[in-house]
Amino acid sequence: MSFTMTPPELKTSSDYIEQVMTSVKAKNPAEPEFHQAVEEVFESLRLVLQRHPEYREAKILERIVEPERVLMFRVPWFDDQGKVQINRGFRIEMNSAIGPYKGGLRFHPSVNLGILKFLAFEQVFKNSLTTLPMGGGKGGSDFDPKGKSDSEVMRFCQSFMIELARHIGPDTDVPAGDIGVGGREIGFLFGQYKRLRNEFSGVLTGKGLNWGGSLIRPEATGYGCVYFAAEMLKTRQESLEGKLCLVSGSGNVSQYTVEKLLDWGAKPITVSDSNGVIFDPDGIDHEKLAYVIELKNVRRGRIREYADKYKKAIFMPTDIKSDYNPLWNIQADCAFPSATQNEINAKDASNLIKNGVKLVAEGANMPSTLEATRLFLEAGMLYGPAKAANAGGVATSGLEMAQNSARLSWTREEVDDRLHKIMIAIHKACFETAQEYGTPGNLVNGANIAGFLKVANSMLDQGLV
Ligand code: NDP
Repeated sequence: MSFTMTPPELKTSSDYIEQVMTSVKAKNPAEPEFHQAVEEVFESLRLVLQRHPEYREAKILERIVEPERVLMFRVPWFDDQGKVQINRGFRIEMNSAIGPYKGGLRFHPSVNLGILKFLAFEQVFKNSLTTLPMGGGKGGSDFDPKGKSDSEVMRFCQSFMIELARHIGPDTDVPAGDIGVGGREIGFLFGQYKRLRNEFSGVLTGKGLNWGGSLIRPEATGYGCVYFAAEMLKTRQESLEGKLCLVSGSGNVSQYTVEKLLDWGAKPITVSDSNGVIFDPDGIDHEKLAYVIELKNVRRGRIREYADKYKKAIFMPTDIKSDYNPLWNIQADCAFPSATQNEINAKDASNLIKNGVKLVAEGANMPSTLEATRLFLEAGMLYGPAKAANAGGVATSGLEMAQNSARLSWTREEVDDRLHKIMIAIHKACFETAQEYGTPGNLVNGANIAGFLKVANSMLDQGLV
């Protein structure tokens, strides 16, 4: 697929990209999410390769799609009945050209090598955009924390870390949280690392405030996504004030997206989980958000319970296998997909456009399919791709690393201010790069090209490694 018309002089770089893409598919069979992430970035790089033949000569594309290291390991643990359980653990160390590998750990039954490779690949460009010195990585397990007791989660995390500890370190690879890995899991993982290594270091981010964590890290992805959306709106002399907003998911990213939207005068009207959607026409206010946070983070319940408590809210069940999600078929101004990959397909994108949505800011990683992305761009929407719009999380992880190295902690205001400035800078870089490469307003191209250039130039500087 192509996001823009390909002028004839680009034929050579197009052929080259196609050739590398064919090889990526052949070498990484049955990894559709990885193919999708690579294809989206490559699509934006046609013009870059035309201007910079040195990347092609040094085989930067062929190198950038090949992880520097892939770790896959057995994770045995005992459940509460004393039965042996086995899961699979992973860490993808994708690219360290601009800093130590950095990226989250995901615990979810859908986790496999291809999904983690797509996430690690995206992370390389996202981390580059933050302006901080962080390479790209991602990891996790097919372990499902849902329905497990705290002690089962702890035993799993300890076993997972026994292997992972050999491969990570504050100057080597610094994991963080992602789906299914929040403060509780990071605590268990950090405790075990410290015990194994006899070392208290900034080896993980998303830590508790009492033991090296940064203020604002839990809020950072959601807040950052809203800051990014505000920058996009500014380019059309608009603001978030009074805007009706669709938010999907009800986990970390969604919760703090809703919070910042409220702070900035917008009206969030939906949240969801893997079983269904809550549509609250009255809006989700601070009190209702506090209920969602308690429901999801403490009671670990299902989002349908919201409609039992707030009678005007409607619960719409969803089926993971269905290609229709009612959340994307509600009249609104802005959409903040914040649950998971490919949650917006072409049909959903058409529904959003039909219902008057003018802005999509991606809190989740790759929540839109390639077809949905194309529809957003064709419709001239304000479209903030994940690697730019949700980079606030990893940027604040970078700030946590900086505080750990300096052995001090900044105030809430100081971290929030730095996060806000970073999101403004990311938007500016994407906006200006899109313009420079002849596709004004196309932040997909802007993010992919700006993220790529810094990594590619660093790879050239460091020789054939
Ligand atoms: P959480 O585990 O806190 O929340 C995930 C939410 O998404 C839950 O509501 C979950 O529902 C829902 N969800 C997960 N899988 C599916 C599915 N297959 N279908 C429908 N709903 C689903 O994760 P986060 O909020 O941390 O992460 C959400 C997204 O944001 C992910 O794409 C992640 O990679 C991305 N992200 C997260 C960052 C962070 O700092 N945490 C940083 C950058 C990106 P249920 O409760 O039913 O599982």
